[in-house]
Amino acid sequence: MTSATARPCPICRRPRIEQFAPFCSQRCRDRDLARWFSDSYAVPGEPATPEDLPDRD
Ligand SMILES: [Zn+2]
Repeated sequence: MTSATARPCPICRRPRIEQFAPFCSQRCRDRDLARWFSDSYAVPGEPATPEDLPDRD
């Protein structure tokens, strides 16, 4: 019994698959990546308000 494979997928807690370690699937791997990206690219505050848009009239 190896302890290395005993840890479950950090995303969904299902048993990990060696091919996608430490995740259980490509989907969970992508989800983890997306979470990292959304964290680093997240901009605090609100997006442009209507007043910031150029006046086309
Ligand atoms: Zn998973």
